[in-house]
Amino acid sequence: MTLDMKAGVSGEQIRPDRLAEALERLKETVGPSGWSTHPGLLEPHVVDWTGVMRGSSPLLLKPARTEEVATIVSICREYGLKIVPQGGNTSLVGGAVPSGKGVEILVNLARMNKVRAVDTINDTMTVDAGCLLASIQAEAEKNERLFPLRLASEGNCQIGGNLASNAGGSNVLRYGNTRDLVLGLEVVLADGRIWNGMRGLRKDNMGYDLKQLFIGSEGTLGIITGAVLKLFARPASVATAVCAVPSVKAALDLLALCKQRTGGQVTAFELMPGTGLELVLKHFPACRLPLERLCEWQVLIEFSSSDETASQQERMTAVLAEAYEAGLVSDAVVSASLSQSRSFWALREGLAEADMMEGPTIQGDIAVPISSIPDFLEICSAAISEAVKGARIIAFGHLGDGNIHFGIIQPDDVLPEDFLARSDEIHGIINHSALRFGGTVSAEHGLGTLKAGAVLKYRGEVEQDLMLAIKHSLDPSGMMNPGKVLEAGRRQLQE
Ligand code: FAD
Repeated sequence: MTLDMKAGVSGEQIRPDRLAEALERLKETVGPSGWSTHPGLLEPHVVDWTGVMRGSSPLLLKPARTEEVATIVSICREYGLKIVPQGGNTSLVGGAVPSGKGVEILVNLARMNKVRAVDTINDTMTVDAGCLLASIQAEAEKNERLFPLRLASEGNCQIGGNLASNAGGSNVLRYGNTRDLVLGLEVVLADGRIWNGMRGLRKDNMGYDLKQLFIGSEGTLGIITGAVLKLFARPASVATAVCAVPSVKAALDLLALCKQRTGGQVTAFELMPGTGLELVLKHFPACRLPLERLCEWQVLIEFSSSDETASQQERMTAVLAEAYEAGLVSDAVVSASLSQSRSFWALREGLAEADMMEGPTIQGDIAVPISSIPDFLEICSAAISEAVKGARIIAFGHLGDGNIHFGIIQPDDVLPEDFLARSDEIHGIINHSALRFGGTVSAEHGLGTLKAGAVLKYRGEVEQDLMLAIKHSLDPSGMMNPGKVLEAGRRQLQE
């Protein structure tokens, strides 16, 4: 057998009259309020969040029901059209934007935004895939529960996008990735059928766990239309602290101490470089530094517990006092109120945006074993400084789970286009540094277009064969999100 991965967008041309007929049928499927061809309305859907990756599409569809999504897929299949599924379009790797060929149909799920059910005994919430993450968090809160996925983009991203990219975020340390927060899925397959896997079961060994195939598949295997999410006890007590640490190694020792002293109540442990916080303070004047001065490294720590009798503030203060004595912390402030905690988080969450406001930025999203982070940072920073003279390095992220966003801002004396032209080379340096420590070149953002070659470059032959076989069996014509995740046509699987 030969599997020819026609996952690219070059495919066979569709005759103009056939295309016009297909577009009419697609428009009819979603009704007048469910489609657009207006360039102004399409604009935010064809450019990615970083503004770097831009494509085009003849039609934006916003279906309102799962059955409409199924009909869209069937029509596209019949006419040989490709589909790009889209949520909030906050992907940082160009996963949700079409190619520049103008031949892919955009299917955005924003109108599928209903919470279908909340079950506080089963601790589950059943949702449409187009629900905003922030709305799901609010609905959980309303029901005195917690949905713990937490991202700086939560006001814009959709749960379908979170699922499709297996988003991570700040609470992975305690609750895991999106993959760990899901019990069931509903997916429209590439053949137009609807798979109803909307089960709210915590134990289910009846065959393969199919939902896990679609989680993290970045729209290349099917369109997620619904999900059954896990809910958790809402914390009764939360404490947030910002601390200056003498080194990244000291930060890791502090993390170990926090874990030891709290028995699993560390919810977040985030690394913030002084260089990055300087930019946050510059570009977001409402942000305030709670510490006396900026050091080379800071961490944001959060403890939380649903035990009403234990004050997390007291626990945090005690742990930090011990850390201070041990030389792991040089300065620290524990939040005294919810609003102060929010202001601490604003510093952390402003880092990615502040980098981009400063100038064109190239950012790696890598993970290495937590214990290797200090060595990774040293080696990668040295290699980048050697290769890109005057580069401003802003490395920050989810220290508690080993995920670092390694950002490089364009040097002042280099033109933006010259800097961005070196993107592949710079990503290569970051990637090789991560792989040297047994890491991954994509921790939480996915591969999208930006890293579509990574699997075929860095994964072994057996893993490549498995992935190509899955793609081929679920999407044999390569119609789902072409050119993403598995680079098109680079390799054929022989049997
Ligand atoms: P989109 O960007 O629209 O799509 C992402 C991918 O999923 C694309 O490949 C798309 O084709 C596919 N897709 C979307 N919806 C569906 C669907 N219903 N069915 C099938 N495929 C679909 N990510 C993290 O993991 N952790 C972070 O901490 C984090 N922080 C961020 C901070 C900022 C400021 C920004 C802008 C982004 C951040 N991200 C982070 C990246 C991004 O927000 C997340 O990956 C998010 O999960 C994407 O959701 P979305 O709805 O915007 O998806």
